[in-house]
Amino acid sequence: MSSPSFSAVTTTTPNSNTTHVLAFPFPAQGHMLPFLDFIHQLALKGLNITIIVTPKNLPIINQLHSTHPNSIHTLVLPFPLHPKLPLGIENVKDIGNFGIPPIIASLSKLEGEVIQWFQSHPSPPRAIIYDFFFGYTQLWAKTLNIPTITFCTSGAFSTCFFQRLMTNMNEFRNLDAVQMQDIPRCPSFHKDQYPSLFEKYKEDDSDWQIIKECILTNPKSWCYVVNSFYDLEGEYIDQLKIDLGHDRVFSVGPLTSSLGVNKRVNPDSDVGYGVLKWLDKCPDESVLYVCFGSQKLLTQPQIEALALGLERSKTRFVWVVKVEGSQWVPQGFEERVSDQGLVIKGWAPQVEILNHEAIGGFVSHCGWNSILESVLAGVMVLAWPMEADQFQNAKLVVEYAGLAFRLCEGEHTVPDSNELARIIDKSMSISENVPQKENVKVMRQKALEARNVGGSSLTDLNELVKELSQNVASNSNT
Ligand code: UDP
Repeated sequence: MSSPSFSAVTTTTPNSNTTHVLAFPFPAQGHMLPFLDFIHQLALKGLNITIIVTPKNLPIINQLHSTHPNSIHTLVLPFPLHPKLPLGIENVKDIGNFGIPPIIASLSKLEGEVIQWFQSHPSPPRAIIYDFFFGYTQLWAKTLNIPTITFCTSGAFSTCFFQRLMTNMNEFRNLDAVQMQDIPRCPSFHKDQYPSLFEKYKEDDSDWQIIKECILTNPKSWCYVVNSFYDLEGEYIDQLKIDLGHDRVFSVGPLTSSLGVNKRVNPDSDVGYGVLKWLDKCPDESVLYVCFGSQKLLTQPQIEALALGLERSKTRFVWVVKVEGSQWVPQGFEERVSDQGLVIKGWAPQVEILNHEAIGGFVSHCGWNSILESVLAGVMVLAWPMEADQFQNAKLVVEYAGLAFRLCEGEHTVPDSNELARIIDKSMSISENVPQKENVKVMRQKALEARNVGGSSLTDLNELVKELSQNVASNSNT
């Protein structure tokens, strides 16, 4: 239950002459970071944005706030209590993916406070931009008679696929595999590769029902914003337009920290920068970067297999290991490989590492941000998808775009170390002709062009800002 007293705090009041929008990011690293990069872009274009945030997530916004002190504002609301969430948990990073359904459900209870704040505001927002998980925001917007903008933190392909699964849940949930004949390339996936929110859906749990309702409601929003670009996902961006029945899908990516201020640095810690000095001493494209995103913890057998595989590959590496409990690399491993690799415990400056010229490959779980960051750095991926949208992302970059290899697959799979070593050695070898390495460099150029004047992403961003500033207020959300 949310606090009965109204305790919203707004830092400053937006200028009444500029377009004001309300923004509602989902509190998980992989969602909040690109969302804030997008908000940064809107602020650069002169919009005023108020961000809904709970107290413990406020530090994540500080950097953006201090960059745009006059145009970024915060509406700080207490995190509503939920029986499944320990007191003080306000972000998925503090509880793991298990926390996604209760966090989504819990934040739906902010409705009353947001509406009260809006109705007493001298210059209220003209639209609400919300994370894909927060479809219920449309009900708030309906009450306030303003349009909504769905911000998709996944790519266009996985968004298309996920929406179809959720919309046809009864049909697909009983199948061992699905092939979607009516979208480009007729992708097929085994049920182990379904997005986690579909696969783990619990019919009798009200938190999960809220999630389902959110996803089914999203297509009714005024427009979608996708963190992607035409040269990477054009056919699926177009498919989304077909699915939604209108053209208002703005692909504005890749949005990453290199666009601006919002460096992908853990606000709690700035450890890990020594790695850049270590990389300075390595030859160009000789180092494999290994990281499984902000959430994923490998099991001990997986860690041991990966450690052996890296060691046997004799390839230089930087391996980011999320430390929790007794989980750790095998005893003696670090000493044995001290000339070959570096182990980072906790959080690494991923974007900076990927953009270092010593990096030649990236073992990734294929989180969408990691994929876009690898493209922008021109670094080939060795894919090990595990959950969420990662199987769809892996298919896109391995099979459709030719930017990646498949290294392993599955949340519980323990790979064979010799096989890992073989694939790593072959893909990283400078004597091998590896088309993926060239392809990703070409895609990097296309990504940069998309964001330049005349490029598809900047054109879409400008068009969206124009719509928000001039037309949107007169459109109805319903
Ligand atoms: N990240 C980072 N350092 C780490 C782990 C992750 O900077 O040690 C960043 C990474 O650059 C990316 C985000 O966290 O921007 C992870 O998002 P992604 O979509 O790749 O995966 P998720 O964490 O959502 O599974």
